[in-house]
Amino acid sequence: MWGCRGSLPAPSPDTVRYGGNTSCVELNVDEDIVIVLDAGSGIRPLGRILAVHRPQAIHVLLTHLHLDHLQGLAFFLPFWSDDIELHIWGPSSPNYSLATRVASYVSPPLFPVHLSDVPSRPIFHDVPDEPWMIGSALVARYPVVHQGPTLGFRVTADDRTLAYIPDHEPSLGVDLRQLEPDWISGYRVAEGADVLLHDSQYSGEEYGSHAGWGHSSIDHAVSFARAAQVERLLMFHHDPGHTDMELESLRDEAQSLWTGRQSPVLAAEGMTLRLEQAEVSIDPPAEAAETLAMTE
Ligand SMILES: [Zn+2]
Ligand SMILES: [Zn+2]
Repeated sequence: MWGCRGSLPAPSPDTVRYGGNTSCVELNVDEDIVIVLDAGSGIRPLGRILAVHRPQAIHVLLTHLHLDHLQGLAFFLPFWSDDIELHIWGPSSPNYSLATRVASYVSPPLFPVHLSDVPSRPIFHDVPDEPWMIGSALVARYPVVHQGPTLGFRVTADDRTLAYIPDHEPSLGVDLRQLEPDWISGYRVAEGADVLLHDSQYSGEEYGSHAGWGHSSIDHAVSFARAAQVERLLMFHHDPGHTDMELESLRDEAQSLWTGRQSPVLAAEGMTLRLEQAEVSIDPPAEAAETLAMTE
């Protein structure tokens, strides 16, 4: 987990436990292929490690093009390497290609170099409608309720499934507890997943003044996860204004609402999830920090 902050990087002495970098999750299924979910500012430190380990191919999957999910791409070392195969997948648009839309950020005046001059010459793909394979991982994408075209990703390998919906407002205009699961936005992404990384941006009180902004309250995240019958909820896309202590009180609230077996936890930068064992295990951030230090 390289970044789990929402909206804007939030480095501060008050955010060290859960981290200030925006959305980026590395998935390791095959030896030589790395899947990266979103290119928020967390992709920058990941790039330092991948530049040393040099996988055969890197596949970056973008849920959508809001800056907090894209801003790290131009600072990702493999982006500047001409001998790593770099694929970038994202939502399609009837008007502009994915490359054209990414270039609106990676080009002057917002960035000094134009996308067409980037040495890696990334291969851009609109995500297909049907599930597809990346190495031995089966990837499926479904549109979810947020501002603008946005996807949730469901990745399955070795019978284990991770669902990733960082930006999501499934409760917009509806009561999740009253709705048939099939009618809930994102249900097909998360249904029965071993782990769900889900938008948990607001407290219930904050949501009142942010309805329609595209994000969930803690209550919504828990209701969604329960409706989708996921094994484990990881609270993700932390509000940039929330300190570590405030996040922990939101986690306590989520745990008090949870009726499943394994209580919700806060996603933290540097955390590692292991899905290959019978039960999902979570390694705390310290190990990743050590790995990063070793590359220096
Ligand atoms: Zn976001
Ligand atoms: Zn967004």
